[in-house]
Amino acid sequence: MKLLVVGSVALDSIITPFGTADDALGGSAVYFSVAASLLTGVRIVGVVGDDYPMADLKAIGARGVDISGIEQARGESFRWKGKYSFDLASRETLETRLGVFADFKPKIPAAFADTPYVFLGNIHPDLQLGVLDQMRSPRLVACDTMNFWIDSARDRFLEVLKRVDLLVVNDEEIRQLSGDWNVHRAAKWVLDRGPRRVIVKRGEHGALLVEQGRSFFCPAYPLEEVFDPTGAGDAFAGGFLGYIARTGDTSSEGLRRAMVYGSAMGSFAVSAFSVGGFDGVTPASLTQRVRSFKDLTHFELAEAVA
Ligand code: AMP
Repeated sequence: MKLLVVGSVALDSIITPFGTADDALGGSAVYFSVAASLLTGVRIVGVVGDDYPMADLKAIGARGVDISGIEQARGESFRWKGKYSFDLASRETLETRLGVFADFKPKIPAAFADTPYVFLGNIHPDLQLGVLDQMRSPRLVACDTMNFWIDSARDRFLEVLKRVDLLVVNDEEIRQLSGDWNVHRAAKWVLDRGPRRVIVKRGEHGALLVEQGRSFFCPAYPLEEVFDPTGAGDAFAGGFLGYIARTGDTSSEGLRRAMVYGSAMGSFAVSAFSVGGFDGVTPASLTQRVRSFKDLTHFELAEAVA
């Protein structure tokens, strides 16, 4: 297994204009691993309480995710409740109950320490650094964060940035981190602080990959039915890193292809509540969706207009 993710394993309660879900399987590490497992074997490290539906977690294991790094602690599982606006473009957090996640200190099992590709989900920057200290020279490390850590542990997060190859955040987060409203300048700001690459996720407006002197943009798949946007960003990261772990290709061209796999996974994630959007996705349907991005974005350059 080549890919490791450390992050939240949650029970989500979601309200959208189309329906509600209660205590559904969620969390950034869950969305990430379910998406990535379509491309490669994944190891997940997280914590759940004694109230977690272990049968559902085992179903994730059956998809090719090694769940032996998920610790079951005494107490309540992490719960998050969110409500989406009519156009699904914004959401309000109604409740965050940390439960056992509050005391989460990721312990990387010895058998996981040599995993070559690592994704640090949006946990406290000190915990992200603690994970890196437990790994044996990974080939590529990517990380996420969120507004809460940028506010409350900014200096520690800047330490994380020095040690990762790739930052994957949304536009709001990179603006807050850099203090610059322009995402292209904000991405350059990040490149000056450690990572060689930055991905800015922009929801229904696609995702941007920025490297020194070069950028690439991938749109979101034009879905007519979007059901629940929760986890789209984590599924994107899972598709992106899953493709890189599968191919071992970290070249600029390889990363561009990985962006399309990320966008394809984001489109599956939003088509149902929880991880239901991945049910029935096969290697063939994934390939078909990736191909449709080519059709969506490819054009031939005509003769120059004089
Ligand atoms: P996304 O839609 O990509 O932002 O991811 C949503 C997922 O993040 C949900 O499944 C939540 O359980 C999880 N989540 C929400 N708040 C937090 C938090 N403070 N820390 C870690 N995970 C969270």
